[in-house]
Amino acid sequence: MKETLYTIPLTDAFHAGDECPFCYVERDVEQDILDLVLGSSASYMESDMRDITDRAGFCRTHFKKMFDYGNTLGNAWILKTHYIRMEKELAEQIKMYAPGKVSFLNRLKKEEDSSNPIAKWVKEKEDSCYICTSYKKTYDRYLDTFFFMYKKDGEMKKMIEESKGFCLHHFGDICGRMESELDEKQAAELRTLLFAKMEENLKRVGDDVAWLIEKFDYRNKDADWKNSKDAIQRGMQKLRGGYPADPVYQQNK
Ligand SMILES: [Zn+2]
Ligand SMILES: [Zn+2]
Repeated sequence: MKETLYTIPLTDAFHAGDECPFCYVERDVEQDILDLVLGSSASYMESDMRDITDRAGFCRTHFKKMFDYGNTLGNAWILKTHYIRMEKELAEQIKMYAPGKVSFLNRLKKEEDSSNPIAKWVKEKEDSCYICTSYKKTYDRYLDTFFFMYKKDGEMKKMIEESKGFCLHHFGDICGRMESELDEKQAAELRTLLFAKMEENLKRVGDDVAWLIEKFDYRNKDADWKNSKDAIQRGMQKLRGGYPADPVYQQNK
């Protein structure tokens, strides 16, 4: 196998019994990276680490998470040298800028010019994020672990059977790799298991949401909530992943 396998944390994630074990993993890994970037171990003060974050920058989502994390001085240091780099890059972009030929038709339609070099540069910056990139690397190892465990013995199959399935986002990632990771027989077996799990659990969460609405009817005011009290956050997670009801993750070490 390539590099590390995360057998134990992946098993823990399945045993947590959430709507999606990979969302559970995602939250853990992302919080670890936030601790690494901004925690009191102060890796942001190490020049090699800062050189990497100066180049990579962060996406909008992770700037927000870094702000919520709460280390003002740490954020300031990271931003300070990143700004120096960005000012330099912007100056180079402006110096090199030469407007391309805009066709008469484009001018007429006032269409966005995707070949504009500065628009392209800004897009590149927005798509570049130190946290997204490091998360992706670790997440890929988790997918390796998933398929490794699936092929090894019946343990993963049993864990999937006992789980509530996955969110659509992570279900898509598993589907994207299952045909190349597994032989035909194994893939067919996983498909059957996975598809049934997803249909069954999408219906379960959908029913929880529907019952939540019924509970707002005064005639049901004494009726059992069943599993609908947290149906909104689970309903959103099941479709797009993540934990909408989570408090912000803040510095605690
Ligand atoms: Zn998920
Ligand atoms: Zn990001």
